[in-house]
This record gives sequence, structure tokens and C-alpha cells, in this order.
Amino acid sequence: MEEELLRLQSEAKTELSTIIRPDELESFRVKYLGRKCTLTMLMRKLGEVSAQDRPRLGNLANSIKKEIEADFLEKEMALTQLQATGKGESRKDLTLPGRVIPFGRRHPVSQVMLEICRIFEGLGFAVAEGSDVETDYYNFEALNIPKHHPARDMHDTFYFDESVLLRTHTSPMQIRAMEKQEPPLRIIAPGKVYRCDSDITHTPMFHQVEGFLVDRHVSFADLKGVLSIFIAKMFDSNVAIRFRPSFFPFTEPSAEVDIACVICDGKGCRVCKQTGWIEILGAGLIDPEVFRMVGYDSEKFSGFAFGIGAERIAMLKYGINDIRLYYENDMRFLSQF
Ligand SMILES: [Zn+2]
Repeated sequence: MEEELLRLQSEAKTELSTIIRPDELESFRVKYLGRKCTLTMLMRKLGEVSAQDRPRLGNLANSIKKEIEADFLEKEMALTQLQATGKGESRKDLTLPGRVIPFGRRHPVSQVMLEICRIFEGLGFAVAEGSDVETDYYNFEALNIPKHHPARDMHDTFYFDESVLLRTHTSPMQIRAMEKQEPPLRIIAPGKVYRCDSDITHTPMFHQVEGFLVDRHVSFADLKGVLSIFIAKMFDSNVAIRFRPSFFPFTEPSAEVDIACVICDGKGCRVCKQTGWIEILGAGLIDPEVFRMVGYDSEKFSGFAFGIGAERIAMLKYGINDIRLYYENDMRFLSQF
């Protein structure tokens, strides 16, 4: 009987060590710890052994049972843990598809900003970045928008105090760059701008790309040429362009630039308000008054400047109809780009 018990003990140990699946573990339990298992049968036979051997064999049988139980529980815990971490060799199902690692994408506005910069870099423009917090002087005064100028009303400015504000356009970069450098210069300045405004076509923060070029003998024809190349590269080389006279305090003459509506191809739709045209940027020749502020000789130098709204370009390029979609961070929207 002692021999049988010891054999059972070593069998159980060996078998348990090979178990890797929960169903195998269950069979093991039935076989070695169940109500009708060999060990139970042997224990029942204890009554048949001599009274002399009975206590010793009884103790042995009990300690073997306890040991098997403890080993069983330990194994059960190990298997559960393996399953939870997904590392169980036996849990590998090679027919399952692999785990897809989600890839991040650039925001559509960032994509458009980068593309705008790339196009102008190809034309020899250098990229410059400025601070979102500006002074009244750089944002307005130096750009020929003195205090009480009606153009300030159009800007709905966020002020920190009387002289510090969140820039309402990227144009202050013109002044900062021209103060530092003598012409010729060709600069593109992408960045965030802020205005107290929020509806279907306005957000309090949006993105602009400012560009300007100063040199000798720069004319409106140069501005037209550079912007035509930009629009052809950004949209379609055949898209129609028109320059409409406009007013900005820091350019003279000034123009707003429209392209034929990319949604309806110029036939007229809701997006272009049935006109067939969509405004995409403002531009003009730099006002001599701005040159005076930075100490340039406006008899010697001339230049042009333009400001492009990145959200607007992205809306047209990707057919987005509500500007607020950009800032809701809905993955279903963002993952389309
Ligand atoms: Zn249209």
C-alpha cells in the first residue's frame, strides 16, 4: 500500500508538470482529487491494513493528498495568470488576425500648413516663427493700424492689458523680420492667431500663413505670379483665379484673391453662395508707411505680402463643411486624412 501511495504521488507530480491547458487541469483534478480517484480508493482501504501500520499509512495518504491539492491550486493560478496576460503558449491561435497598432496622423490643418510652407520653400522663401503673445505695437501700430483706426474693430482682439495681446494675425512677423534684416528677404511665417469669434466659419483660434517678399523693383505682377504658382500647386493647375480690389491698412494696393469654387466648379452652390468664387487669401504691395516704421527706404525697395487662412484651404482641399470639426478631436473625422 505504501508503494502504491508513493507511486501515485510521483505520477501526479509528473503529470501536473506537463499540463498547459485548463481542460487538462480539470481532468487532472478528477483523476487525482475527485470523489472516485485512486487516492480516495486507497484511503478507503486503510481499514483493511493492520492496526500497526494504519496510523503511519493514514498520515502518509493525508499528506500526499494535501500536497497534490496545493500543487493543483498553484498550477491553476499560474494558468489563469498566463491567460490574463495572453502569454500562454497554448492560447496562441495562429489563424487570428494580428493586433493592429493604431497609427497617429497629422491633423488636416497641420498637413495643409506644412504643404503651404513646402510650396513656398520651393520658391526660395525661408520659414520664420513668432510668438503667439504680441504687443499692440507689432500687431497694430507698426502695421499702420494706429489706435482708433476702424480696422481694429475687425480684429476682435484678446487683450492681456492695454499693450499686450494674443496676435490677431501673423503679420507682426513682417515687422520683426524687417527690423532684423535688410532686403532682399523672402519669408513665410506659419502660426496660430486669435480672435473673439466663434460660429460655423470662425473659431477663436485659427491658423494663418503669412508670406512676404521685399527687394528692388518688386511689382504687383510678381505677387500675382507667386500666388498663381502657389494656387496651382495647392489645388489644381487649371483652377481659375481672380484678384479683387480690397483694403488692408498695411498694403497698398490690396487685393483679395478668389479661386473658382472647387465644390461646384464655378457653377454656383451653397458653399460659394452661388457666386462660383471662393476667397482664399488677402494680399497686396507693402504700404510705404510700414517700410517707414522699420526704417526701409520705400523709394529704393518695394515688396508684397499675403496672408493665407490654413483652415479655409484645408476645408476646400478636403471638402470639410464646418470649421468646428477641426477642434472636436473626433477620431472618426481625424482618421480620414
Ligand atoms: Zn460653389
